[in-house]
Amino acid sequence: MADFSFLDNDFKLLKNEGLSHKKNPLETEQGAKIRMGGREVIQLSSNNYLGLTAHPHVKKAAIDGVKKYGAGTGSVRTIAGTFTIHEELEQKLAAFKKTESAIVFQSGFTANQAILSSVLTEKDVILTDELNHASIIDGIRLSKAERKIYHHVDMNSLETALKQSMKYRNRLIVTDGVFSMDGNIAPLPEIVTLAEKYDALVMVDDAHASGVLGENGRGTVNHYGLDGKVHIQIGTLSKAIGVLGGYAAGSRSLIDYLACHGRPYLFSTSHPPAVTMACSAAIDVLLSEPERIEKLRRNARYFKNGLQSAGFDTGKSETPITPVMTGKEQLAFELSNKLLEYGVLAKGIAYPTVAKGEARVRTIVTADHSEKDLNDALAAFSKAGKELQII
Ligand SMILES: *Cc1c(COP(=O)(O)O)cnc(C)c1O
Repeated sequence: MADFSFLDNDFKLLKNEGLSHKKNPLETEQGAKIRMGGREVIQLSSNNYLGLTAHPHVKKAAIDGVKKYGAGTGSVRTIAGTFTIHEELEQKLAAFKKTESAIVFQSGFTANQAILSSVLTEKDVILTDELNHASIIDGIRLSKAERKIYHHVDMNSLETALKQSMKYRNRLIVTDGVFSMDGNIAPLPEIVTLAEKYDALVMVDDAHASGVLGENGRGTVNHYGLDGKVHIQIGTLSKAIGVLGGYAAGSRSLIDYLACHGRPYLFSTSHPPAVTMACSAAIDVLLSEPERIEKLRRNARYFKNGLQSAGFDTGKSETPITPVMTGKEQLAFELSNKLLEYGVLAKGIAYPTVAKGEARVRTIVTADHSEKDLNDALAAFSKAGKELQII
């Protein structure tokens, strides 16, 4: 009988290189500290930037959602699965992003798939940063448009690609707002200037910037004062917003088009009421508790400075995503294992998530961490770093 034993060898290779994923099931809600394997550890690996996964308003909204509208929706958005709360959330997101309209998808991943696969044809071209997120890469694979990959945040490379793209009907530049493995911010002002010069459209994926950068966490576009100058803003509701989902914000014509052609929207069931109501409450928290974002920024600065003064290389991070570079794959996993031993969850990240020889331990502090949590984590980093002769 046929079976999948042909995959065993591949898995063995991954395991030998330390690249198979060892999961750490959480036994508590997400937060600054979590319990794993019966032990309490400091959480430095979540995307829960503002601590909203367990915010009382957000939890209450989820419960209210179930009580009022049930556990599921029973249909896709376009048939019978659009509830009033779905439309209310979309209006709230459009206002938040200062755009005409917005549309919610099941996740940030499907938002990118939906958009990139549907808005362009073989007459068009997509210009994409080489370090863009996997969901952008997959979305582009589903598109009929031509593609050109430019060097990471390299504006000369982008301009060259634009010059070679003038024969196409439309040019769409796509970039992450904040790059998820390095924590650097895309040079949006320069990208927008080039887009205007070469008559191109711009799409920014602010998965790691929504709730983090800009006024009330509106993202990189607002952070750079570019409201109205970027054609498509993608956001996720799964990271700083603390729940689940993705969305696109832009012009009414774009969003109306996506509601008819975005395939995950047409062919996959809409968000359960608990998710939608929790997301909506989380946006209210962003607007009513800006001190959370201030605390996040303070914590990020404090932790980054601490790592740097201890002698660690934190790469080119400008955001709460702070990598601790080890270069060698094995060293990243050894550092991560030691940190766990000393009570800190900070995962090693290696090829293929990042380039070979650029392995790292990636940390993300949140607004929930206390100064003591950060000091304890820094002490664990120093101890482990010295033992492994990284510092
Ligand atoms: C995490 C991430 C996504 C995926 O978002 P989900 O809501 O988790 O599916 C998309 N784009 C970027 C840049 C991301 O970092």
